[in-house]
Amino acid sequence: MDNLEAISPGELKSGLQKIRRRRWFFWIIIMAYLPAMMVALRSSQPTQAIGIVFVVWIFFLIVAVTMMALVRCPECGNCFHMNGFLFRPVRKCFHCKLHLTTDKKN
Ligand SMILES: [Zn+2]
Repeated sequence: MDNLEAISPGELKSGLQKIRRRRWFFWIIIMAYLPAMMVALRSSQPTQAIGIVFVVWIFFLIVAVTMMALVRCPECGNCFHMNGFLFRPVRKCFHCKLHLTTDKKN
């Protein structure tokens, strides 16, 4: 927290917004699973449709997790949700404990 002055509030805000957008994308993908499966079940060939929906969903999930894992903390420059091979999608930076809503508190 001692290098908080090193970056401008604008950089901090845009960096945190980028993290928030990627987190939203991740949660939207998670929540889209059930409605997508219900649509697939109503199709004329449910078995085939479920298979396609599942493969497409897994693809988007991998994209979302990768984007989330690679997003950088605007303050310390390390991966916000990653520490080595540990992935932890919480609201604080793994390295400098910068909170996701720090830019909204001022
Ligand atoms: Zn950090």
